[in-house]
Amino acid sequence: MSTPMAMIGLTGGIGSGKSTVAAVLRSLGAVVIDADLIARSVVEPGMPALASLVEEFGPSILDADGALIRPRLAELAFVSDERRKVLEGITHPAIAHEFLRQLEAAPEGGVVIHDVPLLVESTRGYSYGGVIVVEAPVSLRLERLEARGVSREDAQRRIDLQASDEDRRAVATWVLDNAGEMAALRTQIEAIWPAIQQATLDTTT
Ligand code: ADP
Repeated sequence: MSTPMAMIGLTGGIGSGKSTVAAVLRSLGAVVIDADLIARSVVEPGMPALASLVEEFGPSILDADGALIRPRLAELAFVSDERRKVLEGITHPAIAHEFLRQLEAAPEGGVVIHDVPLLVESTRGYSYGGVIVVEAPVSLRLERLEARGVSREDAQRRIDLQASDEDRRAVATWVLDNAGEMAALRTQIEAIWPAIQQATLDTTT
């Protein structure tokens, strides 16, 4: 099969600059598969997984426009292992299907980046030819998120729920330091780009 199965993981805590790095990698020619975007897209109105969720959990999970009310679904699904598994039995195959569709659409031999905010926290078992971790001091992350309209309290709460820099470092092949200017970040990405391309070639089957 001509599918490029090699894939590079990209992760970082909220506000670290992960999306910024994804955009730079895209500009260098990488295909970026956005895990969060896929997870959201499979439960959009009209998608079969959303219809299955309604069948299972009832119409109260939908708002007046037919869009999923995530907190409501969470309330109904995270009550027991059994109900959680029902939820995952619907969403996981839909996510896997869309993920594979995007992977197969990527050009053969090209760099594919899997952008996963919770790469360390989740246990989905994707395998990577290398993992890029983006780091920045928490104070700076809070500042940048605030400028983007996220309150400090909300951002701090989310940071506390995520893995630590140390946990992410443990899985890192490359660590990008985003404590400086955007240009400095780009320079670091360009510096590791050849190694990313090589890791892709090494792991392409
Ligand atoms: P993440 O995807 O990790 O949550 P983003 O890439 O969205 O983080 O970055 C968070 C915010 O900080 C964005 O508004 C982004 O434009 C800004 N940002 C990222 N890196 C830098 C930088 N080096 N200098 C200034 N602002 C930055």
